[in-house]
Amino acid sequence: MFIKNLNSLSIAIIALLFLNSSFGQPPQRINPRNDLSLMAREPFQVFDNLFFVGQGEVASYVIETSDGLILIDTMWDNDGYTEYLLDNIIKVGLEPKNIKYVLILQGHRDHYGGAPALQKILNAQFGAAEEDWLMIERDFGEYAPRRDFVIKEGDELILGNTKLAFEITPGHTPGTISIIFSVFDNGTEYKAYFHGGPALRTEDLDAMKEFLADLERIKLIPDIEVQVVNHYDIHASTSDDLFARAERLKNRKDSEAHPWVAPDEFQLWLDELILDTKNRIENASN
Ligand SMILES: [Zn+2]
Repeated sequence: MFIKNLNSLSIAIIALLFLNSSFGQPPQRINPRNDLSLMAREPFQVFDNLFFVGQGEVASYVIETSDGLILIDTMWDNDGYTEYLLDNIIKVGLEPKNIKYVLILQGHRDHYGGAPALQKILNAQFGAAEEDWLMIERDFGEYAPRRDFVIKEGDELILGNTKLAFEITPGHTPGTISIIFSVFDNGTEYKAYFHGGPALRTEDLDAMKEFLADLERIKLIPDIEVQVVNHYDIHASTSDDLFARAERLKNRKDSEAHPWVAPDEFQLWLDELILDTKNRIENASN
């Protein structure tokens, strides 16, 4: 009788452990894009104040300021992601405990999935746009991350010596956030544009037209010299991808320009995206 009870107790403990491992998060969906055994990459410093801490397909960045860190996008929620992300931050020489803000630029799982687990560890404020908070809360239900603040068109985040200016640029999701901020290459300042979701994902004609108008507006923002991307393959057709660029950065000679400082490539990328969007609008109108 004693042994029988012990066995059922062991089973209960094992069952509890099993339940606990999946407790607090929605069912995981492993695919080649989020499988860390395929997608793990070495993190690297892009600029004096910008660090890539993402994986082989989707990006996550840390901006270092004089008063703490800002994490942008949290990647997926699969097992191992929290450790992977925190490890990458440590590998580039930064302290995860110094993260003050976490920004979620769009309400797709590859960008916000890691947020609930990070909220248990970091003492940071999490922000996204209203429309995408609603998306996240709908998709993740009871597992959704805590809403600390809502980012609106024209908002700014100032932390120490750093200012991020936000724009709401819908089309990929209804509340996609883009950021204008300064990056520094050995002390030289450049203005960067970080589009939080530059792939059109709507068949609604008005939304497509809004996306187009936004791209045409972005083209006219003066002095953008650097493009920061949230997926490795976002670039003009004649440019190289994020990791090829990282290779160039690693092997860069003192006399060479920073591979990310490429205003013409940014303009060409916008031109191509504008043309593609115009074609889609034309096809949708017919
Ligand atoms: Zn997306």
